[in-house]
Amino acid sequence: AIPLVTAISTSVAAKNGLLIRNRTAFEQSGKVTMVIFDKTGTLTAGDFGVKECKSIHEGYSDEEILRYTASIEHHSEHPIANGIMKKVNEEELDYPSAKDYENITGEGVKAKVEGKKVMVVSPGYLKKQGIEVSEDIKEEGVETLVFLVVENKAVGYVKLADSVRKSSQKAVSTLQNDGVKVIMATGDNESAAKAVSDELGLDGYHAEVLPEDKQSIVQSAQKKGEVVLMTGDGVNDAPALAAAAIGVAIGSGTDVAAETADIVLVNSDPMDLSAMIRFGEATYQKMR
Ligand code: ADP
Ligand code: MG
Repeated sequence: AIPLVTAISTSVAAKNGLLIRNRTAFEQSGKVTMVIFDKTGTLTAGDFGVKECKSIHEGYSDEEILRYTASIEHHSEHPIANGIMKKVNEEELDYPSAKDYENITGEGVKAKVEGKKVMVVSPGYLKKQGIEVSEDIKEEGVETLVFLVVENKAVGYVKLADSVRKSSQKAVSTLQNDGVKVIMATGDNESAAKAVSDELGLDGYHAEVLPEDKQSIVQSAQKKGEVVLMTGDGVNDAPALAAAAIGVAIGSGTDVAAETADIVLVNSDPMDLSAMIRFGEATYQKMR
């Protein structure tokens, strides 16, 4: 038989927008000492708008930068891709088709366009590959910058901006008031990470981290005795979601995140996390 507490908790969970995939993990929720948030699509809504699109290489117009970028992003389900495709559709631009599309998880996307090797990638990836940029282009505030690379030359860039979710502020301060440390781990640039961290008053953040870095951030906190709840939306968050005592996926995120997570926030509302932790404290204390 299902214990009464379990039966009640399941219906309370459903009412609070929680889809429980792993009950054992859920029962730990009252013990959480640290919440690690992903940024894009988790603390932020992931509703990117294009602020600027510019060529930095002769032979390419600004519009061509956007069109080639769209050729590849057309195949991606990342929030950055959605922002770019929205702009392209608004401007009713057409774009060449792409072949051999591949995701460079946490760093960008690549494909063959008109027989050329084309990528849309983060500034960090460019640096790592030793690809030089002719101009000094910087992010300001909550800004995400991606470069269009053709045959290993950076030919243009797109700047996008995202917005912090309405309830992120309250979610963070409620968690902190309950004595939970709140950290962010993002694959995005330092500027965007710092702006979001400052706005929300986080206890710390890690920027430009790859999926395996997110995982080791979770693991090293747990080695120090923290009970970590990790929450994210992307393919890049999956290893960290799996490593955390409790992995929580944002409902509006990717299937990979949801399939890896112990719990899914059906309404994509970070406030549901603090409700869950309080609920875990109240309920599972009684069972012991
Ligand atoms: P976060 O950890 O904040 O959710 P991601 O790990 O999803 O961010 O992405 C990290 C970085 O990788 C982005 O800021 C961007 O530079 C690059 N990136 C990821 N996916 C794409 C994409 N589809 N197009 C362009 N750049 C991408
Ligand atoms: Mg994300």
